[in-house]
Amino acid sequence: MNIKEIFYSFQGEGPLVGYPQIFIRFYGCNIHCAYCDEPDFVKDKHNYTVDRVLEELKPLLKLKPHSISITGGEPLIQVDALKELLPHLTLPVYLETNGTLPKHLAEVADLITYFSVDYKHGFDKEFLAFLDVIKGYKNVFVKYVLIRDFPIEDVRKMSKIMAAFDPNMPLIIQPVTPFSEIKVKATPADIQKAFNLASAHLKDVRIIPQTHKFMGLR
Ligand code: SF4
Repeated sequence: MNIKEIFYSFQGEGPLVGYPQIFIRFYGCNIHCAYCDEPDFVKDKHNYTVDRVLEELKPLLKLKPHSISITGGEPLIQVDALKELLPHLTLPVYLETNGTLPKHLAEVADLITYFSVDYKHGFDKEFLAFLDVIKGYKNVFVKYVLIRDFPIEDVRKMSKIMAAFDPNMPLIIQPVTPFSEIKVKATPADIQKAFNLASAHLKDVRIIPQTHKFMGLR
């Protein structure tokens, strides 16, 4: 499998913020986001076997992490590797995904404990199908990266789709950390507007930035 890095740190995003985790960062992604902090031009990639990944995990497991984050890139593009690896993991699996590959998700959903699902502009159908695959599963939450002057219609559509499944599904609005093509932050007015739009449909909407970035953590 193509792995970018394996390391121990603290979860910096979403409702599990602050928990110690092992991060297995898969290489590559199927889409392009203007704010991506893991672009493919970063070429440090390792071709690891399952055994090699398990070897890398051994010293990190001694640090007593809460769970293992499967992140990227987009891990689901390597679903065959996930099917091989996940049954060997001895801690709860926390999947961080862009929410665009529902068929791949269906192949590994039963091996995952926490689902951190992004909503991405232009992928409404995929997002709906994605939530449908994990309908009834516990620990599903959605993350929306908020840019300045964000597309209002996106927040409406996303919130309505989520509410149709479960109005209590947590939505984390994550004000963007300027990076790559994104040079400015969302304003306080953007944040309030997005919160109000989403809260019209959903009961658990929170604003959480990327906390690891301002603590200097990985
Ligand atoms: S989905 Fe994630 S990894 Fe892929 S381009 Fe967007 S931010 Fe980067």
